Amino acid sequence: MNIVILGAGYAGLRTALDLDRRIRERGLDSLVTLIDQNPYHQLIQEIHLTATAGIDSLDAIYDIRHLLNRHGVRFIQGRVREITPLNHEVHLEDGQSLTYDRLVLALGSETAYYDIPGAREHSYALRTYDDAIALRDHIIAQFTAAAAENDPKRQRQLLTTAIVGGGFTGCQIAGELPAWADKLCKETGAPRSEVRIALLDHNKLLLKQFGNWASREAERALDQRGVSIYLETAVNAVEPGLIRVSGGRVLRAGTIIWAAGIRAPGIIAAAGITVDRAGRAIVDRYLRVEGQSAIFALGDCASIPSGADGATVLATASYAMRQGEYLGGALFSEILGEPLRAYEPIRLGQLVSIGPDYGVGNPLGMPLLGYPVILMKKGVEQYYRASIEGA
Ligand SMILES: Cc1cc2nc3c(=O)[nH]c(=O)nc-3n(C[C@H](O)[C@H](O)[C@H](O)COP(=O)(O)OP(=O)(O)OC[C@H]3O[C@@H](n4cnc5c(N)ncnc54)[C@H](O)[C@@H]3O)c2cc1C
Repeated sequence: MNIVILGAGYAGLRTALDLDRRIRERGLDSLVTLIDQNPYHQLIQEIHLTATAGIDSLDAIYDIRHLLNRHGVRFIQGRVREITPLNHEVHLEDGQSLTYDRLVLALGSETAYYDIPGAREHSYALRTYDDAIALRDHIIAQFTAAAAENDPKRQRQLLTTAIVGGGFTGCQIAGELPAWADKLCKETGAPRSEVRIALLDHNKLLLKQFGNWASREAERALDQRGVSIYLETAVNAVEPGLIRVSGGRVLRAGTIIWAAGIRAPGIIAAAGITVDRAGRAIVDRYLRVEGQSAIFALGDCASIPSGADGATVLATASYAMRQGEYLGGALFSEILGEPLRAYEPIRLGQLVSIGPDYGVGNPLGMPLLGYPVILMKKGVEQYYRASIEGA
């Protein structure tokens, strides 16, 4: 059987590694092809640290060919341009076309701008390793320019960072910025007193998927670190160095970070696949795409039922990895012609860092605060690194 996996992120890489292990153990001759636009696997849940120089930038990526060294998986670096389910083909931007017996969509997500004027053009996204490097370099340039600036108003604008979106990404980057600003001011000579960090969200709560207690804790921790929080504040437009928000107010900022939402890549809907409002492929309990017997989807690009109330599984790395483990096994059952067992989402909970030494989380549903969250997050990360390095 010829299996093609699109995307070598948390979900796609895990699917490929688990499937390959099973195929090799049984000595079967199925072909597994993994395709990604980048030569590297990105640890996206670490990139807010790359963006704030909290880790060495190369710590957030792995060379995919190197990871697959001892495996039978074929890797192709290329950007997928089009999927044509009718003839079971995938077309890459460089002109290559591949056929498949089974296709896996593990293409992750992109930043959603909700048609807000200027948002895409005048803000920095934080979805990829390249985004993180661009943001880090921009902030360093702003602080360097501020140190050489004599006009206090201009200086304050250069040193103001506004983050739109108080979810995982927004809270984690807002948490890292104050400590990094301390260091940057020492290094560049920019005045720390003029540094401003603002976090905006149109909701009543930060981290709304956690509930009231986590939101209150995150708010308190960010406030203590000098981050100004503007809740129930909708962004109407973004212009160079300026955000227009509800009530006709204007916020000037030298750095604007857009972390307000995600949507699945447009090529999924363009392939005629049934998608939800966020462009995610709608799948059944076996992660099989609705109406497409040969296509599976998982991770951020899939809308996966999580219960009877119509809720879907959260878009997080921990779910994406576990779905990859499941799908590796399910595809192996397909190869053997055996029936599939259904995917059961396991709620392991989330861990969110608010700076280098504090976090909020709900591992296994238990509220957890402070440094233990950071320790647990590091443990999970080490476990993940070991699982892909030693697979
Ligand atoms: C700053 C930040 C912090 C986060 N922190 C956490 C956290 O602490 N815990 C947590 O659980 N989750 C966290 N998340 C969410 C988590 O990173 C995602 O849910 C996870 O990456 C989803 O995995 P995935 O495999 O579906 O997609 P991804 O990991 O994004 O992988 C998708 C892959 O597809 C490739 N691709 C996309 N389009 C194409 C194309 N057209 N052609 C070829 N290749 C393509 C991409 O290059 C990428 O390698 C965070 C996200 C961000 C942005």
